[in-house]
Amino acid sequence: MTSFYEFGLAEPIIRALAEEKYITPTPIQTQTIPLVLAGGDLIGIAQTGTGKTAAFALPILNRLCATPMRAERKSCRVLVLSPTRELSSQILDSFRAYGRHLRIQTTLAIGGVPMGKQVRSLMNGVDVLVATPGRLLDLVQQNALRLNSVEVLVLDEADRMLDMGFIHDIRKIVAKTPAQRQTLMFSATMPKEIAELAGQMLKNPQKVAVTPEATTVERVDQRVIHLDHGAKLQILTDTLRAETIDRALVFTRTKHGADKVVRGLVKSGISAEAIHGNKSQGQRERVLAAFRDGRVRTLVATDIAARGIDVDGVSHVINYDLPNIPESYVHRIGRTARAGADGIAISFCSSDETAFLRDIEKLIRMPIPSTDRRTDPRPAHRQNSHRDSNQAPRHADRQAPGRRRQRPPYPGNGNGHNRPAHQGNGNNRPRPQGNGPDRPPSQPDQIATVAFMRREPDQRQPKSRADADRAPR
Ligand code: AMP
Repeated sequence: MTSFYEFGLAEPIIRALAEEKYITPTPIQTQTIPLVLAGGDLIGIAQTGTGKTAAFALPILNRLCATPMRAERKSCRVLVLSPTRELSSQILDSFRAYGRHLRIQTTLAIGGVPMGKQVRSLMNGVDVLVATPGRLLDLVQQNALRLNSVEVLVLDEADRMLDMGFIHDIRKIVAKTPAQRQTLMFSATMPKEIAELAGQMLKNPQKVAVTPEATTVERVDQRVIHLDHGAKLQILTDTLRAETIDRALVFTRTKHGADKVVRGLVKSGISAEAIHGNKSQGQRERVLAAFRDGRVRTLVATDIAARGIDVDGVSHVINYDLPNIPESYVHRIGRTARAGADGIAISFCSSDETAFLRDIEKLIRMPIPSTDRRTDPRPAHRQNSHRDSNQAPRHADRQAPGRRRQRPPYPGNGNGHNRPAHQGNGNNRPRPQGNGPDRPPSQPDQIATVAFMRREPDQRQPKSRADADRAPR
């Protein structure tokens, strides 16, 4: 599919897409839109950054356009569930942007803000409601919302919802919707629990999958700086000064760490803001808006707070701390390669993080070019040496006991190559070095299935739904 015209979408939607400057559908859109237009259930294996929001929003808007009717009071025709407030408001923005020439009512139901306005906006019924699960159930329990006339139910980032402890809420919500509905589920990975949920919720679903990891990883110019832990702030300051930066997203492991980095940068005269779960919704929205329009060029974030941040034009991702979950590295650096752009990812690696680096290189199946800025580099250190990890402490929480963790297989890159192609954009990235002891076999595995992600101690499952809404991470 080379044009949005070919889907047969209504003219007002096509017009909005032209205004958004969307010309060619992305692969997930090409696969998904016709299936959703046909009315069937669907499982989409795709993550943020692939264009999946439009993949479900466009055919849903088309349905609303083709069957205009007033939503019942305190009801919605379309319910979209997403794990975080940020993602929910981005999804709502997308519906509003693509549906700007349609007469549709849309609203948001997220935690962390007073409920009154949400209750009022649901009073007369809405066409599209985008919600986080906790707040949605609160609204239902307060009789502000009924789910018995939902025509289309979308579960976005289902694996994240599972990871954040929302699975029971989702079951409760689904049970309140009519059996006669269209259900669309999107997930970056397909752990057992999500596959089971899909089996219970979806009727003869079509499955579509896109594998953005390879393309993302290939497009990003990646570097590692080996450094002393205590030198991170100074080297970050140097890096931000040395590079030509449009927008830099800096990742720290903890909220406290993010604040500390911001304080350090500001002290050195570099404007920066932090975004994490201790910030109020208002603060987070202000910071994101400033980052989007370029008033703040450096945003320091934790993984969870950054999830779903949809900002185009991030030129640099800097891993101030390496993630202990290798998949998070791929998600992080994907922030700089959105909508076809290239980007630069610089990762700081102190001696206690070399095991994480090793895991990341194994996952992406390529060594990352590195430089060494340690004051006392070990003479035995080789670039990208996997031996380093033998000396690094393995973290006790690296794998939940009794839970066997599967790695996502190396995804094909769509060109028929099963390894990262040699870079054609001038970046001198090395090819994988064959199948050494640490190298995965050259045959790719079949379909992306990943079990659980490990959680940091401060990212454990929320004690209750209310906690989750009050204290997003
Ligand atoms: P998503 O995966 O839905 O978060 O989308 C990622 C980014 O791609 C967003 O900034 C969208 O506005 C943009 N996008 C989605 N579809 C297209 C398209 N067909 N052409 C250009 N940009 C797109």
